[in-house]
Amino acid sequence: MVTTHNLGFPRIGRHRELKFALESYWQDGSSLTDLIALGSHLRQQNWQHQAALDFIPVGDFSFYDNVLDMTFLLGNLPERVKEFQGHELDNYFRLARGRSKQAHHNDIGCCSGVKAGEMTKWFDTNYHYIVPEFTRQTTFELNPTRILNFIQEAKLSHQNIKPVIIGPVTYLALGKAKDDINKLDLLTKLLPVYGELLELFINHGIEWVQIDEPILVTELNSEWQHAFNMAYHHLKFSKINILIATYFGQLKDNLHLATNLPVAGLHIDVSDNKDEIIPVINLLAPHKILSLGLISGRNIWRSDLNSILDWLEPIAKELKERLWIAPSCSLLHVPVDLASEDKMDEEIRSWLSFAIQKIEEIRLLGSAINQGRATVQDQLDINKAAIESRQSSDRVNNRQVQERVKAIHSNMGQRKSSHSVRVIKQNTILNLPIFPTTTIGSFPQTNEIRSIRKKYKLGDISFTDYSLAMKSEIERCVREQERIGLDVLVHGEPERNDMVEYFGEQLNGYVFSQAGWVQSYGSRCVKPPIIYGDISREKVMTVEWAVYAQSLTDKPMKGMLTGPVTMLNWSFVRDDQPRSTTCRQLSLALRDEVIDLERAGIKVIQIDEAALREGLPLRKALWQDYLSWAIECFRITANGVEDETQIHTHMCYSEFNDIMEAVARMDADVITIETSRSDMELLDAFDHFNYPNQIGPGVYDIHTPNTPNSVEITQLMKKAAQRIPLHNLWINPDCGLKTRKWDEVIPALENMMKAAYELRQNMN
Ligand code: GLN
Ligand code: ZN
Repeated sequence: MVTTHNLGFPRIGRHRELKFALESYWQDGSSLTDLIALGSHLRQQNWQHQAALDFIPVGDFSFYDNVLDMTFLLGNLPERVKEFQGHELDNYFRLARGRSKQAHHNDIGCCSGVKAGEMTKWFDTNYHYIVPEFTRQTTFELNPTRILNFIQEAKLSHQNIKPVIIGPVTYLALGKAKDDINKLDLLTKLLPVYGELLELFINHGIEWVQIDEPILVTELNSEWQHAFNMAYHHLKFSKINILIATYFGQLKDNLHLATNLPVAGLHIDVSDNKDEIIPVINLLAPHKILSLGLISGRNIWRSDLNSILDWLEPIAKELKERLWIAPSCSLLHVPVDLASEDKMDEEIRSWLSFAIQKIEEIRLLGSAINQGRATVQDQLDINKAAIESRQSSDRVNNRQVQERVKAIHSNMGQRKSSHSVRVIKQNTILNLPIFPTTTIGSFPQTNEIRSIRKKYKLGDISFTDYSLAMKSEIERCVREQERIGLDVLVHGEPERNDMVEYFGEQLNGYVFSQAGWVQSYGSRCVKPPIIYGDISREKVMTVEWAVYAQSLTDKPMKGMLTGPVTMLNWSFVRDDQPRSTTCRQLSLALRDEVIDLERAGIKVIQIDEAALREGLPLRKALWQDYLSWAIECFRITANGVEDETQIHTHMCYSEFNDIMEAVARMDADVITIETSRSDMELLDAFDHFNYPNQIGPGVYDIHTPNTPNSVEITQLMKKAAQRIPLHNLWINPDCGLKTRKWDEVIPALENMMKAAYELRQNMN
């Protein structure tokens, strides 16, 4: 008999109930009691959705972040939140977001602000966790009330409960040392607390606990490998059965380590690659169970159940009771329910599977193995039909696009001349001063623009009315930029709701869900578009707006596009072809747009690659492969233009010291990056690497409402000028301005210009 289970379920609710409840509580629109009640309701609902499985996860629900939950469970609170007197959940929100709720006149004391915990990406997903903090003073103290309450709550309606926690080694690995402490020195203090927790689970009648150790799929040095042995040899004395869960990739060089840990079972991710199943079976002691993560917990495609059964059945025969099956990882990374997509095209919908559907897939696989395929034949037939329809659909396959990708040749990514030649030609045309100034693209998105876009989308206003409104907003942006004195202007992007969605909606091969929300962090959710088919561009996408904007001014106007790698990394992508192929298709479609912009007289074109770094694989050994096709795709998009056309790119982060060489290979004439917050630390990279082209280190931090003063900006630029030749430097904000207000943006840009004038006078 195979055992079915799940590693974790989305917490936000089918209609993002958690988001709205949190935001209402934070804004003082509802009570803590309401929020707690909603949490309990969502947990019950989620368990109900998983009731057909042999084990349901408990402890995966979170009001903000499950790593932060671990921090509270382990009593690892930073000093700054330790003395808090109010409700624990309020303290939890303080650490999560800097304050618990809108300060109210009589509870300022209870909810006042602290420095929020740092947030960073959970492995290579788009989920962000709150980074645990460690110092020499760090101690741990078990605080189990919350998880024990969840267990009791789950027991009221369910039999088989499997608590889910993050393992001690991953917890330490994900945290940050705030002083000179070696994080691993904390392991001996941490393990007794885990031991205590496992004892409490036993007292609550728990037999199995899932301990997530996803860092087992990353490169570990010998110290960290040793930490694994130490941790699980310490915990083996507990009478509970430990299932170690790994996901997001293969074990590779940690295969022996993981299979030899003294635990009762191991979960591995085989959704993408089955190569490790046999080696793991061979290495796993015969008393241990093997849990296979069969279907991807990170994408939205329906799994081919019949073909999974073909290879799974013999394994099930061999392993018998020792086989468990589950999705590859927590379903946190997929939307809740496909049933909400009643407006989606029927055929495309039949190819998809969200969290609730994925649970059903696991249940079906379990039944087919335990009772025979015949007992679920109807569902297997439906599955087969859907898989076949996707494989053969004309909407997926476009011969022309496939041929075009095959015909890509290296010249396509090659500019006609080197940057040093291009720059002379570009300077003659653009006639820019030294320290040229520009912005990153978007200007404030007012409620008025949003409402016009929405009305147009709903068909409430005509294209003419919509276009007039957008053009008047573009004019406003242009006039403001001229008044401020900027050198290279932008149209302001009023017509774009989102930089990926805007292009995705105009490209063939993309589909958009109505409610396919996924948690990004806390109450923030994103709705990634879905790439289901070969990508092609039917007609120009941005030219009309760019040409209109250029017609308003004698200054150069930037054409503004989202690059192929960012389009890829911020979408749910196809699993039936390599990511690199999808990216090449995107790069060709966008290349055509670049060339059309050039033909229409646009002299400067910016291709944003905000998410290039996000696509880096977890293992460094795979970085070069990714970077090589990602950079190639950017080059295909960008480099079909004449020498005279100036290509810009923009990246939303500052840590690219380790990918600098690849960034240089993009060969953009100008790159703008985020640096203001890190005090130009980024520029350290330039000590060792001579960046050949022009660069605009962001000097205005657009992530805060604060106005930078011109002295600060001048200083930052002087710092930059110590590393980078003067004539290669641009002055610009560190990202787009869409989230700011006009009355914040104007003084900030004025100060930026003031700094530019000063630098031009003093440093020339
Ligand atoms: N051009 C985009 C904007 O200004 C870039 C956004 C981004 O980098 N995330 O909004
Ligand atoms: Zn940015």
